Amino acid sequence: MRDFNYARARDVEDAVRSVASDQQAAFVAGGTNLIDLMKEGVARPGRLVDINRLGLADIRELPDGGLRIGALATNAATAYHPLVERRYPLLSRAILAGASAQLRNMATTGGNLLQRTRCYYFYDTALPCNKRTPGSGCAAKSGYNRIHAILGASESCIAVHPSDMCVALAALAAVVQVSGPDGPRTIPFAGFHRLPGDTPELDTVLRHGELITAVDLPPRGFAEHCAYLKIRDRHSYAFALVSVAAALELADGVIREARLALGGVAHRQWRDESAEALLRGQPANVDTFNRAAEALLRGARGCGDNDFKIELARRAIVRALQTATSAEEAA
Ligand code: SF4
Repeated sequence: MRDFNYARARDVEDAVRSVASDQQAAFVAGGTNLIDLMKEGVARPGRLVDINRLGLADIRELPDGGLRIGALATNAATAYHPLVERRYPLLSRAILAGASAQLRNMATTGGNLLQRTRCYYFYDTALPCNKRTPGSGCAAKSGYNRIHAILGASESCIAVHPSDMCVALAALAAVVQVSGPDGPRTIPFAGFHRLPGDTPELDTVLRHGELITAVDLPPRGFAEHCAYLKIRDRHSYAFALVSVAAALELADGVIREARLALGGVAHRQWRDESAEALLRGQPANVDTFNRAAEALLRGARGCGDNDFKIELARRAIVRALQTATSAEEAA
């Protein structure tokens, strides 16, 4: 690991000012991904600004009936919070499907959104990677690409975003609260993470120096009919090959509202509102679910080793929607 300077921020304004004024500076909270990246030489910040004491760990109700999750709330605190368990079980289940208990005790909400891809070649500094070193090439395209994207990939990068929590946040239409050098702003979750395009080094729309302060959940929690289904190589402590967050509102067996987001398949969580529209007003049965899955995956393309993900995703979507309909818990 290279030498770096360390400073502890006094408040949000101090943190933002410290990072915004230094292109080599980065925020650090739980450090569960950043420190690994620094050890591997993938991330090389010259200065870490510690935000752990900024008082951003609260989880509280909002006047509109939604819920605000502070950026420093740990994944464990969020997953086991009574209001999250009762009103947003989809989020609780998605978080508990990720990482390990030890990691969830350290990892924060803001850090979960900002974790980097687990593409093997991104972590191997001996090999070309456009995300790590723009313009160097993509070793995954001609390499072993079993875990890579089937949707939204580009010539420059076929990596996927590894988060489980973010898949649920996408389905719930969360909003990201940010403070930056130009003041606060809100970013709808659907616009927070990017597709790779020609600039895969940029995972999100955040500008340098902007700090996530909270994530807001809308009042609608889909608590009665939701499921998070994660398909992976091991039953625990493994990233998703495909994951599905499904949330429904039903009346007499008919779908009144639907949300569907996929993880493990693209550079960001994949939510397709046209597939959701196909579900609305339809009977909650396998034929309806198959039509939505076919529509969502119409543009899916494999890279060779990951071709199996297309059929896996189709089946996972149908199963997650069936589970949400019967309100059983998916593991
Ligand atoms: Fe790098 Fe993306 Fe290619 Fe992986 S898929 S090697 S992260 S450019």
